[in-house]
Amino acid sequence: MPDIPFGDLKRQTASLRGELDAAAARVLDSGWYILGHEVSAFEEEFAAYLGVSHAVGVANGTEAIQLALVALGIGAGDEVITVPNAGVPGVAAILLTGARPVFVDVDTASYNLDPARLEAAITPRTRAVLPVHLYGRTAALDPLLEIARRHGLHLIEDCAQSHGARYGGKATGTLGEVGCFSFYPTKNLGACGDGGMVVTQDAGLAQRLRQLRVYGWSRKYRSELPGGTNSRLDELQAALLRAKLPHLDGWNRARRERADWYREVLAGSAVVLPAGPDAGEDHVYHLYVVCCEQRDALQAYLREQGIGTDVHFPLPAHLQPVYRSLGYLEGDFPVSERLARQVLSLPMYPELLRAELEAVAAAVGAFQEQGS
Ligand SMILES: *Cc1c(COP(=O)(O)O)cnc(C)c1O
Repeated sequence: MPDIPFGDLKRQTASLRGELDAAAARVLDSGWYILGHEVSAFEEEFAAYLGVSHAVGVANGTEAIQLALVALGIGAGDEVITVPNAGVPGVAAILLTGARPVFVDVDTASYNLDPARLEAAITPRTRAVLPVHLYGRTAALDPLLEIARRHGLHLIEDCAQSHGARYGGKATGTLGEVGCFSFYPTKNLGACGDGGMVVTQDAGLAQRLRQLRVYGWSRKYRSELPGGTNSRLDELQAALLRAKLPHLDGWNRARRERADWYREVLAGSAVVLPAGPDAGEDHVYHLYVVCCEQRDALQAYLREQGIGTDVHFPLPAHLQPVYRSLGYLEGDFPVSERLARQVLSLPMYPELLRAELEAVAAAVGAFQEQGS
């Protein structure tokens, strides 16, 4: 019986063990563990990789979004538009600023914010749009940016699943006013702990972000900027991420190759495969997400066969118990609600072997035969 885990970070760590050990030892020996040379160097290297002027390391991807909103002056009384199908981090970040999240349903093919539905959700209180490049597929930034500009809205990219993805040749995170990244261990570029980054071309915004991550300090122990908190990237994570960054493009190529293999071996199967990117768009397959009407039965069957899967995400944000007071109801966002019932994430990582992937596809096929 195959035993194919949904994810296996030990494989990546093993492939870089020497470099990671050296990076960790450098930090341990330095005696400096928070906001030091490694963080500044990683900020510079990540900014250069993306082609953006400023990068500010923070504690995680959720706070990257929260601080980006605060740095743009967004708070109580404001509305921020985002999607209901990308989990809760962006929604939590919006609420933490005091602003109100407003949802717009997603496109049926890309699973990303549907530009055709955006304008209807804009009110006089709307200040920003927060699209997510979900599963690693770039959101439709050209139409979204055009609408945002026409209405004077900020556009903040949630790039937690799209490190290295390019839209019209430019890296995601560099097209909107601000890009927010997470380095949670399973992301396409992941630390061995928590980490995040905010990137922008705007020097003033970058300066405010550097203050907000240390209590709004204008200088040490003098707080001037409201909305600050403690949100720092640590030296150990920065050093490990510096060792990993040169491998990101290769890992993304390996993910695309595995998506091609899945497309080949799952052709003709009853599950709906992820739509490939349109011209000018990109997909870095943070997750390989198929749709299946008998999703729960398929997941249980695969589990019996020793194949790990996951669901991203089983409950849309607007139906989460904690957000009930926002006033949304079942039926408000039919595409996101259907996806919550049907999406299934299959194993997808750069180290996944062709034989393992074929075993996953064979099990999907066997499930269908068993059911027919
Ligand atoms: C992971 C993730 C985040 C949050 O990142 P953390 O580092 O876990 O706080 C935000 N948005 C999306 C789409 C994510 O996948």
